[in-house]
Amino acid sequence: MRQLMLSLLLVVLWAPSAFAGLCKAGNIESRHNREAENLERENFAMAVSPVDSTSDYIGSRTYNAHVLACNRKRDTMGNKIEKDIGSDHVFEANLAPRLVKGHYNYFGNIVTQQRYMYRLERTNGNWIVTIPAEFHFPELKLTKFLDITMPLADRLGIAATVCATTVKSGGKTTRGLVPKSVGNGVWTDDTCRVGRDESFTVAGQTKDIKDWYMDFWKELIQSYWSRPGFELRFQIINRGEVASDDLAAYKKEDIVWHVRLNMNANVAPRYKSNPLFLHPIYSGIDRSGIVHEFGHVLGLDDEYPSTECAPLGGTDYIMCGAFTLGGDNQKAIYPWIVTRRYVVGKAL
Ligand SMILES: [Zn+2]
Repeated sequence: MRQLMLSLLLVVLWAPSAFAGLCKAGNIESRHNREAENLERENFAMAVSPVDSTSDYIGSRTYNAHVLACNRKRDTMGNKIEKDIGSDHVFEANLAPRLVKGHYNYFGNIVTQQRYMYRLERTNGNWIVTIPAEFHFPELKLTKFLDITMPLADRLGIAATVCATTVKSGGKTTRGLVPKSVGNGVWTDDTCRVGRDESFTVAGQTKDIKDWYMDFWKELIQSYWSRPGFELRFQIINRGEVASDDLAAYKKEDIVWHVRLNMNANVAPRYKSNPLFLHPIYSGIDRSGIVHEFGHVLGLDDEYPSTECAPLGGTDYIMCGAFTLGGDNQKAIYPWIVTRRYVVGKAL
């Protein structure tokens, strides 16, 4: 019996990443179509991407309605949001900070719920989302090392030197290119192994590899998710970026994102740990993976598989294709979903 329970649990825990995707189009109601129309007038929809000057944040109206309908259906706060505000609701330009949290739910059962949490406020018409994050570096194996993705190695000036070859000792890769970090179907960029306590100097600035690593995440998340009208603040607790009063409130309300890293290139990433995957993110995760996983922290669903979501209009949507990193792939429907939840937030 215990074994049966355990295997049922395994199936249930495994399921979300494997089978979750868009819900049926039959869930789209008139208010979702109306909201999909309204969102196109928001600053964050009409913006030009600060990353690469592209400007298609709107994407497809019908696809946006579909994503919205699925999200509301699966968001534990979805009903309350739709009860509290109509589809034409206009928010004040200045709104005090609130802590927003809830769960989204793939199959209607509690075990597969995924949590989202963030701080939300608005200043002069610009929405500001703050996520406090705490990094947990791999502590199970290879604890003297850290795998990094090639774009970071490139920034550190070691891609063509240290990271071009593999150094082995006792059958174990101890430095440089990680064999098979690409080619296992999970990653698009190779990864490179460096010492956990190394420091690197770039443009006269010397920092610990862990600091370079966390800064790389911060820059990616902030630059890809932010645009005029929607600002993302990724604050790293390890680096003392969160004021102590705020930190106390965040911890009390449990809105900290714990980034738990591993050293296994064969593990497909999950933004949050569960009993099966205590350390669910490979430290050498691709840049697009970081930007995509962050979408889950904001309470956005996967729209997989891309063979299904792309033909419906999801091409270039970061939650449809996890490997489609582009300046405007963080489509306006996402900030729309994130900011409508202000009505169910709790005053800070
Ligand atoms: Zn995902």
